[in-house]
Amino acid sequence: MKVGILSLQGDYEEHESILRNLGVDTLRVKLPEHLDEIDALILPGGESTHFARILRRYGFAEPLTTWDRPILGTCAGLIILASEVVDEHPGLLLKRLNVRVARNAYGRQRDSFEAPVKVSDGRVITGVFIRAPRIVHVGEGVEVLATLEDGEVVGVRQGNVIGLTFHPELSGDDVFHRMLLDMARS
Ligand code: GLN
Repeated sequence: MKVGILSLQGDYEEHESILRNLGVDTLRVKLPEHLDEIDALILPGGESTHFARILRRYGFAEPLTTWDRPILGTCAGLIILASEVVDEHPGLLLKRLNVRVARNAYGRQRDSFEAPVKVSDGRVITGVFIRAPRIVHVGEGVEVLATLEDGEVVGVRQGNVIGLTFHPELSGDDVFHRMLLDMARS
């Protein structure tokens, strides 16, 4: 089992260390050819406009619209996986998750915050939100994986693609990385 982490931008090292702690081999994905070597992929957070530009430049835009192994996208990664963005279009949407997102949607005073996140398995973890997007519409075929205490959706799954508005790799919680591994094994 080898999990790739798109390492052209963003906080890929934190994802790497979570996976290493789980005893999993990792690969820093920098070229589309690397997709052939991995069983699952992580799209880390960062800045989605920049992310979209480099995905296009390095030739990932087309393969990632159909690549059929499990994917976990956090924050900017979720934005790129979404089917629709209400405001500033990042320049590329892979349309792998039937959700509508709003970028930087929590306002300046809450640009970044931590909040308890309820996971669908019943556990509560700490969510780290950094200039986070908001999932403003959950479309057909999409399962809710995580919510804030008020019910706001912050994590979703469609098929074998997971998207989170927050950064579990920063609080060190591995529940979603384990879900990714389970999907890759099945
Ligand atoms: N605010 C960023 C964007 O809209 C996402 C932030 C993040 O990935 N932590 O692209």
